[in-house]
Amino acid sequence: MTTIAVLGTGIMGLPMAANLLDAGFSVRAWNRTPARARPLADRGAVVAATPSEAVLGAETVLTMLSDGPAVREVMLGLGAELGGGRLWIQASTVGTAYADEFAGLAAAQGLTYVDSPVLGTRQPAEQGALVVLASGPDQARERCAPVFDAIGSRTLWVGPAGAGSRLKLVLNSWLETLTVGTAEALSLAAALGLDPHLFLDTIRGGGLDAGYVQGKGAAMLAGEFPPSFPLSLAVKDARLVGEAAAAAGQPAPLAAAVRARYEQALAEGHGAADMAAVYRTYRN
Ligand code: NAP
Repeated sequence: MTTIAVLGTGIMGLPMAANLLDAGFSVRAWNRTPARARPLADRGAVVAATPSEAVLGAETVLTMLSDGPAVREVMLGLGAELGGGRLWIQASTVGTAYADEFAGLAAAQGLTYVDSPVLGTRQPAEQGALVVLASGPDQARERCAPVFDAIGSRTLWVGPAGAGSRLKLVLNSWLETLTVGTAEALSLAAALGLDPHLFLDTIRGGGLDAGYVQGKGAAMLAGEFPPSFPLSLAVKDARLVGEAAAAAGQPAPLAAAVRARYEQALAEGHGAADMAAVYRTYRN
């Protein structure tokens, strides 16, 4: 039985760890706030008190933490305990600079590094239906396959380590734009004296529709924002998109406007709500 250490059992890490258990992995989980990892103990995981304890005896380490600084802090804290050709599957969304930095950190720690952020939110994570954006050495593919099969329904190998994080930013730029576009269309409908449901009803099933728009749009109209993708993390990703575009010399004026909406929602206190709460910034 392969032993995997899961570092970070938040909205995404918890169901990913549960699916690894169901797939027959021996899971050693750690979370900074221990209560969030505790449900895994009932399902047969070892819940460790520290990251160092979690990686003991684990052939694979999977990180699912909020951002690049958190991943760096946790991985540097492991120090010499690592090495021995362990596999490091880095699934958090960290952006391009951290994804590249972690290649060096992995080399220094003797780890095989696979940069593999995921597409999909809470429900796909629970269903083991994430899309894995894997990048790293070809020799790592076989070792990664059982992990990716447990957490996802589809794996794309997209290039050398760091390519996965690049694709993730492209995808998140798109979904964050879609969400703000939905908020703005619904607000415009209401401002023009229409029932905003008409927007969602009219596009439903046609070429302009997207499951994402229906889901986030319904949440906006219901005014219910239980976090599936917390708005604070959407802000983090919008900033990462802006930084990556600037570093590449690529104008991204729409991404900048979209980012401003999430920043405003954060400033208005909606950071812990789902990203769909960006709709709140349109209320007049
Ligand atoms: P989350 O529920 O907020 O979990 C974040 C995790 O990071 C928690 O385990 C948290 O620990 C930990 N953490 C934060 N700062 C830390 C630090 N300095 N040291 C140690 N641990 C720290 O977020 P999530 O939705 O699971 O997201 C995890 C990652 O997946 C993020 O990079 C996110 O962008 C990405 N992602 C999310 C989604 C989504 O829809 N939710 C989809 C795809 C990718 P505590 O519990 O102690 O706070």
